Amino acid sequence: MKIYNTLTRRKEEFEPIHPGEVRMYVCGPTVYNHIHIGNARTFISFDVIRRHFINSGYKVTFVSNLTDVDDKIINRANEEGRTAAEVAEEYSNAFIDAMDAVGVMRPTVRPRATQEIDAMIETIQMLIDNGHAYESGGDVYFNVRSDNHYGVLSGRTVDEMISGTRFDVDPRKHDALDFALWKAAKPGEPYWDSPWGKGRPGWHIECSSMSAKYLGQPFDIHGGGLDLVFPHHENEIAQAECSRGTKFCNCWMHCGMLLVDSEKMSKSLGNFLLLKDVLQSVDARVLRILMLQTHYRSPLDYSKERLDEATSSFERISTTLRNVEWECSHAQVDASDGASDDASAKALLDKIEAVKKRYVEAMDDDFNTAAALGEVFSLVGDANAFISGGLDSQAKVDAAKAAGDAIFDLMGRFGIDMTDKPQEDEWPVELLGLASEMAGYSGDNTKEAAQALLDARAAARKSKDFATADKIRDCLTNLGFTVEDTAAGARLIF
Ligand code: AMP
Ligand code: ZN
Repeated sequence: MKIYNTLTRRKEEFEPIHPGEVRMYVCGPTVYNHIHIGNARTFISFDVIRRHFINSGYKVTFVSNLTDVDDKIINRANEEGRTAAEVAEEYSNAFIDAMDAVGVMRPTVRPRATQEIDAMIETIQMLIDNGHAYESGGDVYFNVRSDNHYGVLSGRTVDEMISGTRFDVDPRKHDALDFALWKAAKPGEPYWDSPWGKGRPGWHIECSSMSAKYLGQPFDIHGGGLDLVFPHHENEIAQAECSRGTKFCNCWMHCGMLLVDSEKMSKSLGNFLLLKDVLQSVDARVLRILMLQTHYRSPLDYSKERLDEATSSFERISTTLRNVEWECSHAQVDASDGASDDASAKALLDKIEAVKKRYVEAMDDDFNTAAALGEVFSLVGDANAFISGGLDSQAKVDAAKAAGDAIFDLMGRFGIDMTDKPQEDEWPVELLGLASEMAGYSGDNTKEAAQALLDARAAARKSKDFATADKIRDCLTNLGFTVEDTAAGARLIF
């Protein structure tokens, strides 16, 4: 399996530290608001990546935190006259619900920063003891110039950082480059006791401490959005390596930004769509297909057109699966034809195997989901062509079923469950009245009512009463159905 490593700036063969196991950490959200679909892109991407490891036979330990103490949370709490803990609790729960709703697997461990303060104090103390950090007026700062490797991830030299970035010039810092590991509590802020007085941890120290605690150091993969490379991940490396004296993690994976009109979707720009709002009108599976159509490292321009494309992709697959199911269950098979020497069936089975193989190759090549999805679509095309030729032998029925199963399975590997919810659940109740009037049906089941109407129409056609047959069809059309006549009988499509 090849993975692009931000640290080395090339694709590398993935070699797990512990054979058969992957230990990975993905930076979680700061819980001061609902997440937007840009954030969701990063979390869905890492879910797809995690699933591919699992499908490849790895045991995956996946740690992803909640940053539940932060300036933004405190500001929001002050604005709303609530405690920071209340704000964090609300948006932590909202985040977990939103991730469940988009089918992101729950992490093996979901540490909350506020529950892990001891681990952070321990790391900070190590840094002070090693001469990489200093206490100043109740704050503790990391001494950037003490770390010869600082800049390895972002590829920036310390001098470039000075010229390229605006630093807050807190007089307690010995050098403008230094960053806070611990912040002394201001009045009204949440705080914890520490050897340096009451205060709270800086953002970067959370991830270094929690990943080492739950995964050991070094671990295999650290992930997040591309916007976290500098300074967050650069600082994580500095803290982790200077405190524990070993490499932090082997491979850094970064997800490209979701854009709107070529600009990063972000809370501060105000150009965001909240995930929960999008899910009001968009099936989570459609959103995932939209994400899969772009490589995880590339920017993804979100637009209504992209969403429409993803919707039709989803519908194409689900219609195919429904048609395969219908054709297989209504096939008129000659019982004497049990042989599996049907050449077209054999060709389809070969195609299925080739698609599965190429799907894995694409995913093994730095998680090329767009190519892997393309393989699924090529099988969808073949399955459609195959069933439209008619399923007149058991070998053909079996091959069509195998194609349907493969499509279903490959979509499932992406985290997309193509199980069709029974269409009858959405059928209009007017069917009951229509069936009572035109087919003598007296029950209360829409599926039975529909079948009674189709039977009445078939009977009318048989007795050449085309006026009645057409009337039944027209009434069904008015209710939003299409009546499709197939070799195996009439079928209703809603
Ligand atoms: P935050 O709560 O801001 O730390 O963001 C949570 C995650 O979402 C981080 O991994 C960010 O890198 C990621 N993220 C933020 N904005 C975007 C975006 N527009 N596209 C993709 N990922 C994003
Ligand atoms: Zn982090």
